[in-house]
Amino acid sequence: MPEIYLDNGATTRPTEGVIRKMNEALEKAWGNPSSLHRKGQEAEKLVREARQITADYLKTDPVTVYFTSCATESANTAIMGAAKRNVRMGKHILCAKGEHPATNEPLAALAADGWEVEFLENDGTGRVLLNDLRAKMRPDTALVCSLHVNNETGVVQPIREMGAVIKEINPRTLFYVDAVQSFGKMPVQPLVWQADLVSASAHKFHGPKGAGVLYVKRGLPLPAYVRGGGQERKLRSGTENVAGIAGLGQALKESAADLAGHEKQVRACKLYLAKRLKETFPEIVFNGPAPEDGAAHVLNVRFSGLRSEVLLHSLEDYNIYISSGSACASNKPEEMSPALSALGLTREEIESSARFSFCRFNTLEEVDAVIEALSAVVPRLKRYTRR
Ligand code: PLP
Repeated sequence: MPEIYLDNGATTRPTEGVIRKMNEALEKAWGNPSSLHRKGQEAEKLVREARQITADYLKTDPVTVYFTSCATESANTAIMGAAKRNVRMGKHILCAKGEHPATNEPLAALAADGWEVEFLENDGTGRVLLNDLRAKMRPDTALVCSLHVNNETGVVQPIREMGAVIKEINPRTLFYVDAVQSFGKMPVQPLVWQADLVSASAHKFHGPKGAGVLYVKRGLPLPAYVRGGGQERKLRSGTENVAGIAGLGQALKESAADLAGHEKQVRACKLYLAKRLKETFPEIVFNGPAPEDGAAHVLNVRFSGLRSEVLLHSLEDYNIYISSGSACASNKPEEMSPALSALGLTREEIESSARFSFCRFNTLEEVDAVIEALSAVVPRLKRYTRR
């Protein structure tokens, strides 16, 4: 049974080119990029190349690109740094609902420290209401946080419009965008968005784990989150993960080589799955945006009357990998699934939701195989779970 991996929102398989690049880095360029001798310079060159590739993709300058260990670290650096920098403005933060824990948890820490964190209403599919943002912006709003693409539902936020509203009302308010699910898949343009801080993670676009990006607007002095030897222009100390960063650069080069072509391929698979699912199981519901409206790679589906965690394990027997609505042991909807709970779904509805997430290497034939497996599994599970 060939492996069918439809959990690309969780992580993606590194390409052969990425593995080759990382091997080369580990075998040859294993020096410390801070060393002044040739071995150091060889490693530093790989980091410099990756920074340039990232800057080209972001249509910005390499001095705005910082490498971290993951997007969670990028988010913590951005949020805690922005709060510290802007604390004199006030202690009000606005945030979209249904964000990833990488944003929600630092915000919870700030709230415990006396910050007022206020959430933005959405249109029922998860998309932020711009009027609500406009109404909630205040002179003491230090920071606004939003995902670009939601990892659970694929809803695409109106980031450009949000940036325009924020900066029109209060140019000093910092705007942080989590672009983890869009980076390497669609254009990510902080300058066009008027975003001050943008995060990404290599393992979501066929790079390695352990390599993240933080874009910081040129000239914005952000306090360090990790302190020490002063690497990454003092924002993020610690000897660079040279092989990981080189892998990140290679992955981005390959992804960005044909963004539109890859997006078309990915969307075709998703729309084909949506169509075949609806034909086969007319009772299913798509959570979040309509399949044709969301990001190309994420489809969130509710199979009423069965538990998606059981479905996930049943599909494993067919060598098919998906993700369930709830990724943790919590019973609270907002912790089980921030995005689905932001849409008002109940605990039972969240427990019956599954995420299918694609990459450019998936095919329509794989979708057919998934439908065949689901046709065997779903009726069986429904019989089993009927009360
Ligand atoms: N933000 C989003 C939207 C994500 O999907 C993820 C990963 O699941 C993260 C942040 C955290 O990324 P990392 O695993 O690199 O810390």
